[in-house]
Amino acid sequence: MKVKALGVNGAFTQYYHNNFVFELGDRKLLVDAGTTLRYSLKASKYKETDITDVFITHLHSDHVGGLEEFAQRCKWVHNHKPNLWIRASMKEKFEEVVGKGLFTDGLTLDDYFNVYPVEVGYKNAFKIGDYLIELIVTDELHAQNMMSVGLRIDSPDNKNIIYTSDIAKHEQAAFYGLIDSETVALFHDVSMIKNPVHSYIEDVVDHYKNWISLDKIYAMHYQDDTNLFEATDKYGINFVEEGFYYEF
Ligand SMILES: [Zn+2]
Repeated sequence: MKVKALGVNGAFTQYYHNNFVFELGDRKLLVDAGTTLRYSLKASKYKETDITDVFITHLHSDHVGGLEEFAQRCKWVHNHKPNLWIRASMKEKFEEVVGKGLFTDGLTLDDYFNVYPVEVGYKNAFKIGDYLIELIVTDELHAQNMMSVGLRIDSPDNKNIIYTSDIAKHEQAAFYGLIDSETVALFHDVSMIKNPVHSYIEDVVDHYKNWISLDKIYAMHYQDDTNLFEATDKYGINFVEEGFYYEF
């Protein structure tokens, strides 16, 4: 599978938000849609019509703030209706956030997307093409009073990628327990400075070094001023770069 970061930086970045496209066979799954999406998609050479599937991990603006415009453009400009996989228990809050602009003239979410409510956990994993998607619950582990999820994506050739999205209390999340010998990459939220809603880089390295080799960790959501050469050298993990393809 191929993974491309539309952006890799934090909520207050001057660049693009930490949103990703997972290319799963002939499907393209957009994971998160921040307010910079209208620029970041284009910069990464995607059109709205390339995106077949969408998943939103949580309701911060750097993850969902660009979804209304994306939905409007898909419907009114391109007559394109992507699949929207949405955690069932998050749907009401999700509709509160994105619905104000979308639900006019009697329109509902179903007019913009093929909506598939899904549940967390391995037993409720769902398929996009030949790829299996499991939602990993991280409620309250990123921000207080916030529902959030990470993902594990299993490919038909038995590789898997774990994607934390935003996380602070990673020790309490299930990610490390889901790492196995077929895990090819762990995309992990890191902050280069201590931060109440993101994982501090040194804690990430310290926690996961017993579970996965450091060269399989891919840091994301880091600060704009991070020196990638120094950071890679110092911590021995990868730092995801905007617009690069990662192929596993
Ligand atoms: Zn967040």
